[in-house]
Amino acid sequence: MTRPQEEVVTVTASPDPAAQQRRARPEYPGRDGRTSWRDAAACRFLDTDLFFPIGKAGLALAEIKEAKSVCERCQVRPSCLAFALDTHQGYGIWGGYDEDERRLLLRQRRGNPG
Ligand code: SF4
Repeated sequence: MTRPQEEVVTVTASPDPAAQQRRARPEYPGRDGRTSWRDAAACRFLDTDLFFPIGKAGLALAEIKEAKSVCERCQVRPSCLAFALDTHQGYGIWGGYDEDERRLLLRQRRGNPG
């Protein structure tokens, strides 16, 4: 399984001293020195199983609701959703959307809302 390419945040030069400080210390430093939306994910230290519930009934419904509530307050939600759509993630909650909702978004993106 290949790992999808991570989004890299580019900070451009600015005469603003505060901006220069931000450039010197990236807001979301990655493990490998790069920056990634994953480093600011609200789910970063949560149990991954919560975002990959099994089924859509019973206990899974409560897990889906809880996962989506985490996504609602996640500052990188747009990046997460874009990644999931661009890489066709088939399972789980990404960017606050489950797989069925993402399939609908992809159909809409292709101009086929049905
Ligand atoms: S939007 Fe949800 S799944 Fe995506 S990084 Fe944020 S908390 Fe995690």
